[in-house]
Amino acid sequence: MNDSPILTRRGFLGVAGAAAAIGLIRPLGVFAEDPKPADAFTLAPLPYGFDALEPAIDKETMQIHHDKHHAAYVANLNKAVAGTEHAKKSVEDLLKGLSGLPADIQTAVRNHAGGHFNHTLFWNSMKKGGGGEATGKLADAIKGSFTSFDAFKTAFSDKATKHFGSGWAWLSAKDGKLEISSLPNQDSPLSAGSTPILGLDVWEHAYYLKYQNKRADYINAWWSIVDWDSVGKRLP
Ligand code: MN
Repeated sequence: MNDSPILTRRGFLGVAGAAAAIGLIRPLGVFAEDPKPADAFTLAPLPYGFDALEPAIDKETMQIHHDKHHAAYVANLNKAVAGTEHAKKSVEDLLKGLSGLPADIQTAVRNHAGGHFNHTLFWNSMKKGGGGEATGKLADAIKGSFTSFDAFKTAFSDKATKHFGSGWAWLSAKDGKLEISSLPNQDSPLSAGSTPILGLDVWEHAYYLKYQNKRADYINAWWSIVDWDSVGKRLP
């Protein structure tokens, strides 16, 4: 009798195939009908080169910040919502509906959806040759809420400088007004019903390589790369 592995394997597949055909077992592996679902959330490349924001933010910081830190938030968010209905939601809707999420994924979504959203907004609020002042409707809104652009800038810098520990300084719109706040970790103004239009990352990973403990110098340099046109487009 020929009992070579090939024939034995063929024989097994023949039995499995017959069982599948009459609905006794679910097709597995290569027989699966559905391809592996794609990750719900993906990391977009930076809209400019890693060195585009030099000298305000150095190339190495940008590379690690985007490719390691932001990438990790995306990966961990995908892990947290994998196989759940929440994987189909937008990152904004996840954060707006945070308090209604199941307790076992709420903290992971808070941290990692927050991290994903906040960093995406951050990259898209800066550009080479940015800086200056807001114009148009945004300039009017800033003046309306803080009396002048300079007063706004001072108040925002102050909030960012004095924020204790890891977190972000925010300019958000709520009820037709603009407000400055700082929030810990990756918490998002979206979860408090505000619309963030500008955020500054003051985690040490955002500036430590170049500025070490001098957070105020980082904040001061950051104003020179703010893309006010992009920020203005987020005004509700
Ligand atoms: Mn960061």
